[in-house]
Amino acid sequence: MSIIQAIRGTKDILPEEIIYWQFLEKTASEIFAKASYQEIRTPIFEQTPLFERGIGEATDVVGKEMYTFIDKGDRSITLRPEGTAGVARSYIQNKLFASGGVDRLWYCGAMFRYERPQAGRQRQFHQIGLELLGSNTPRADVEVIAIATDILKALGLKNLTLQLNSVGSKEDRQNYRQALVDYFTPYKDDLDVDSQDRLSRNPLRILDSKDQKTQEIAANAPSILDYLENDSKNHFDKVSTLLSLLGISYELNPRLVRGLDYYTHTAFEIISSDLGAQATVCGGGRYDGLISQLGGTPTPAVGWAMGMERLILLLEQLQPLKASTPDIYFISRGEKAENQALVIAQQLRQDGFKVELDLTGSNFAKQFKRADRSGAKICLVLGDSEVEEETIQIKNLGTSEQKTVSQENLILNLS
Ligand code: ATP
Ligand code: MG
Repeated sequence: MSIIQAIRGTKDILPEEIIYWQFLEKTASEIFAKASYQEIRTPIFEQTPLFERGIGEATDVVGKEMYTFIDKGDRSITLRPEGTAGVARSYIQNKLFASGGVDRLWYCGAMFRYERPQAGRQRQFHQIGLELLGSNTPRADVEVIAIATDILKALGLKNLTLQLNSVGSKEDRQNYRQALVDYFTPYKDDLDVDSQDRLSRNPLRILDSKDQKTQEIAANAPSILDYLENDSKNHFDKVSTLLSLLGISYELNPRLVRGLDYYTHTAFEIISSDLGAQATVCGGGRYDGLISQLGGTPTPAVGWAMGMERLILLLEQLQPLKASTPDIYFISRGEKAENQALVIAQQLRQDGFKVELDLTGSNFAKQFKRADRSGAKICLVLGDSEVEEETIQIKNLGTSEQKTVSQENLILNLS
């Protein structure tokens, strides 16, 4: 492979695209701040067992998608495939729970999964997500869902559906598990190979299979909602009621189990109908067991993550966002003029103007052409005679009007 070829499943985010990323990050961070969420940045790699124990050995992520390597100190290291395990680790290690109340955190960054690359699926991709730790009230579930829908709305995205389910408590799932084994066993030979394996190890995961035949069989599988004990049912009913109170519509999807093992009770996804096969833009739910499973004091928690590449694909389908342009394009010619332009440009920037300085040294005609293409409203011109007379020319690129002013009065003439 050529060394000037990015690794399969990775992508450069080029300047023309970065504007969408910045818009997304700014929109989300403003909404997080309004709800009192604070940003946390955890390392991109962690000890492998953190993910094995946190996410679950029988999941696709741990089973086949992790970027794991042995470092020079013989430690097994994994590039984070998702954000929650690292945040949970940090929460325990730094005793963030010591405040005694709830902790509201958000994060944004690169994640790594060894998957088959396709539109909306990469090996290095980005997630923005939040975690609300320390509360088990259904109001917490609804708060985080409402923040997700607020962000998507503020981005201007349409054609989204919130799908909602409960995966119950650990005990509920024990009972449900047997019902699934009983249901799937007669179809065993028709299931995809992974699902055959899951039948004994983790039958719930069969519901998450992407195999079409398996999905057809799973369509008639028993519903987890029939296996919820009272407490779980109450929690789920309250979440549904409160969502309606906020005017957030949802669809029940009893087949929704999510790809990671740590979820309890509420599970949800937000799906776009404008994305083809990779349609889930946000996935999340409650994970009351994770903190204790990692060795911390039992702490209920709920959170979600959005796939940023998929959001960008949607944003690009909406109106095009324009990259920011300079206020002033500054052209100069001759050594004295060029040096002086460097000084004046710097002063103008300190005075708050966005200034692009032409560094090509080409003739004025060529520099004027670039000024026209730059998107700036104003072109400043400095040549030998201007240096001599301590003046500068101001050209309005919209009207082509041109005037000569003294350098001293430049700022006055610009505002
Ligand atoms: P999928 O079913 O699409 O594989 P998942 O259940 O594995 O998703 P999560 O672990 O819930 O995904 O991650 C949350 C979100 O992150 C997904 O809904 C998706 O938008 C995004 N995402 C996950 N994997 C990738 C990837 N390889 N490339 C780009 N985005 C991804
Ligand atoms: Mg996946």
